[in-house]
Amino acid sequence: MANHAAHSNFMPYAYFDGRIVPFEDAKVSVATLALQYGISVFGGVRGYLSHDQKVINIFRLRDHMTRLSRSASLLKIAMPADVDGLAQMMVELTRRNAPATDTYFRPFAYKSDLSLGPSLGHPGAGFAIYMLPLGGYFGEGDSLKLMVSSWVRVTDNAIPARGKIGGAYINSSIAKDEAVINGYDDALMLNAAGKVGEASAANLFIVRDGVLITSPVTADILEGITRRTIFQLAKDLGIPVLEREIDRSEIYISDELFLCGTGAQISPVGSVDQRPIGDPKRPITAKLSRLFFEAVRGQRPEYADWLTPVEIPVGAR
Ligand code: PMP
Repeated sequence: MANHAAHSNFMPYAYFDGRIVPFEDAKVSVATLALQYGISVFGGVRGYLSHDQKVINIFRLRDHMTRLSRSASLLKIAMPADVDGLAQMMVELTRRNAPATDTYFRPFAYKSDLSLGPSLGHPGAGFAIYMLPLGGYFGEGDSLKLMVSSWVRVTDNAIPARGKIGGAYINSSIAKDEAVINGYDDALMLNAAGKVGEASAANLFIVRDGVLITSPVTADILEGITRRTIFQLAKDLGIPVLEREIDRSEIYISDELFLCGTGAQISPVGSVDQRPIGDPKRPITAKLSRLFFEAVRGQRPEYADWLTPVEIPVGAR
């Protein structure tokens, strides 16, 4: 039988069923409701290794755990702890895995009953966290090539769009696949109203005449934590921000365009549908990006509140 884990670089320990176990032991039955119907919610969190390699700074941990809990409540998935308790589990697992690299965390809550029928009424709930090293999400290129997808972003009346819901990622997968087989890096998805939504796993900002513009949270987008981070950084840099609907044609004439997300961080976009984006120097993206990476790496004391420092115990590696 294929052992898929053997091909990946997951860290040795996972949190599973209330305790820390070897990653290989964090397993579910094939009949699990979450696996059959996608009734699960997840988070994606980054931890950045400090320059002296002694500390992992987890970025906006409480905010991620809050969104995860809210996503879980949309699907009536019981969580094993409150936001502080969940954050504590992330910290404990970090100490145990003692990463020597920048790290990605995947907390995951799901309907664990072995049962037939897609219903939210089943009480069983599982919770897991696993970790892996992660650098850039999109590879090394200077900027991304996007296509406007022929697939429409999930609409909130079909699957709650603001929740980070496992089953909803069929939508992302199918759009990303179309983009990649056509030679693009990612898909830009319009929502059911035909307005700009987001990319397959990242929110999106455009710049027009010096103003940063992003779709509102009512545009069937995930309520991104990096998106909120950009609002604060832009405010501090004196860059005006507008949260309003975006038309497809505005994308083509934008001066700058970037994706943002935990994975994507800040990723400049060079073209959409093979139309180059206006200003190749990208001055606003560059300014935001510089401040963003200083903040996440703990080089900006004014943003220290966003970081949960976890000291790696001496001799743990
Ligand atoms: N949209 C989607 C569909 C995503 O999967 C992500 C990644 N979590 C984002 C946006 C960005 O959200 P965040 O900044 O919270 O990572």
